[in-house]
Amino acid sequence: MERWSPFSATETQSLFALWEAERRNRLLYSIGLILSIALVLLGWQIQRVRTARRVAENANRAKSEFLANISHEIRTPLNAIVGMADLAASTNHPEEQKEFLTAVRTASRSLLLLLNQVLDFSKIEAGHTEMEFSAFSIRLWLQDTLSAFEKQCEAKGLRLTSKVDAQVPEYLVGDRTKLFEVLSNLLSNALKFTDSGSIHLTAGIEDENERDMLIGVSVSDTGIGIAPDKHEIIFQAFRQADGSMARRFGGTGLGLAICTKLVQAMGGSIRVKSEPGNGSTFHFTVRLTKVLAQPTAEPAKAGEPHALHLRILLAEDNVLNQRLELRLLERAGHDVQLARSGREAVDAYAGASFDVVLMDIQMPEMDGLEATRAIRLFEVETGRHTPIIAMTACAGSDDERRCREAGMDGYIAKPIDTRALLDEIHRLHANGNNEPI
Ligand code: MN
Repeated sequence: MERWSPFSATETQSLFALWEAERRNRLLYSIGLILSIALVLLGWQIQRVRTARRVAENANRAKSEFLANISHEIRTPLNAIVGMADLAASTNHPEEQKEFLTAVRTASRSLLLLLNQVLDFSKIEAGHTEMEFSAFSIRLWLQDTLSAFEKQCEAKGLRLTSKVDAQVPEYLVGDRTKLFEVLSNLLSNALKFTDSGSIHLTAGIEDENERDMLIGVSVSDTGIGIAPDKHEIIFQAFRQADGSMARRFGGTGLGLAICTKLVQAMGGSIRVKSEPGNGSTFHFTVRLTKVLAQPTAEPAKAGEPHALHLRILLAEDNVLNQRLELRLLERAGHDVQLARSGREAVDAYAGASFDVVLMDIQMPEMDGLEATRAIRLFEVETGRHTPIIAMTACAGSDDERRCREAGMDGYIAKPIDTRALLDEIHRLHANGNNEPI
C-alpha cells in the first residue's frame, strides 16, 4: 500500500480534480448554450412582436386612410346630388331641370357603385362570396363588358379594341357576373389612367386539361403607368399606388383587392406589368369548366318589354319610397295596392288576391319577415303560393338568407334598379304562377 499510495493518491486526486473541472466546464458550457439559445429566442420573439405591431399599425393607418378616402368619395357625388337637386327645384325651365336631374342620376349611380364595392369587399373578407356557375359565351361576355365602356372611351378619344384567340371555345362554365366585375374594374382603371392612345384587350387559353381551361385575359393601356415598387401594393386592400392617387383620380383603393380575391376564388391569379410613362398591362387568369353540350340559347336578354298586367301588393313604410315605387310599378302597367306596415300587408293579403307581393323589411308594428311568415302560414290553409320579393336597404350577405328563410322567393336591394325589379317580378310570376309549391 505504502509503495504506491502517495503517488497514487495524488494521481487519483488530480485525476478527480481534472474530471470535476471538466464536468463543471461542460455544465457551464451547457448553461451558456441554453442561455444563448434563450436569448436568441427572446430576441426573435421581440422582433416578431415588433413586426406584428408594425403590421397592425400599417393596417390601421391604411384603414384610416381608406376611411378618409371613402368619406371624400361619398361626399363628392353627394355634393352633386344635393346641389343639382336644389338647382332643379328652383328653376321652372324644363330643359334645365332635365339637365340637373341627369347630373343627379349620374352622381347617384357612382355613389351606388361605391357602396356596392365596399359591400362586396366586406363580403369577400368575411368569406361570404358565393359563386354562381352557368354556361356563358366568352365572346359575348367580353362584348358586353366592352360596350359598357365604349361611350366613356369615345368621350376621352381612346381606341378600345379586343381580340379573342380563335382556340377559345364559344361556351364555358363559370361565374359570369364575377368575371364581369373583374374585367370592369380593370377597364375602368385603364380608362381612368389613360388620357390618350388606346386600351387593348386579349383573351386566350393558357392551360387545359380534360375538365377545364385556364383562360388568360389581358387589359393593356397606354396610360401613366405604375412604378415597379408599387406593383404589389396596388393589389392590397385599402392601398393605392400613392396617397395622392386618391385625390387625383378618386377611387376607394378596393377595386384591385376585390379583383385579386375574385380571381383567386376562380382558381386563377392576377399580375401587372408596367412602367411609368409606358402604360400598364394587367393580366389575370381564371379556371373555367368545359361544356360538353352547347347551350341552345343565351338566357333571355334583360330589358325586353314587360307586357304584363299584375296585381301587386306593395308593403313599404317610407313615404318617399312609397311614391317612387308606386310610380315605377304603375308606369310598368301594374295595379298596385299599398300597405304601410307589415300588419297592413297581412290584412290586405287576407282580403284580396295578388300576383306578387313586394315586401320592405324594416317596417313599424310588424316587419317584413314577420309579415311574410304570417302570409305563408295563411297559405297553408289556402294552398296557394304568392311570390314575395324582399325589397330592402339591408344588403348584407346574411340579410338575403334571412329573407329566404322567412319564406320569400326573391330579393332586390335598395336603391332599386327598375329593370332588375321588373325582371324579378316577371321571373317569379312566370315560375310561381300562384301554384302551391
Ligand atoms: Mn322600411
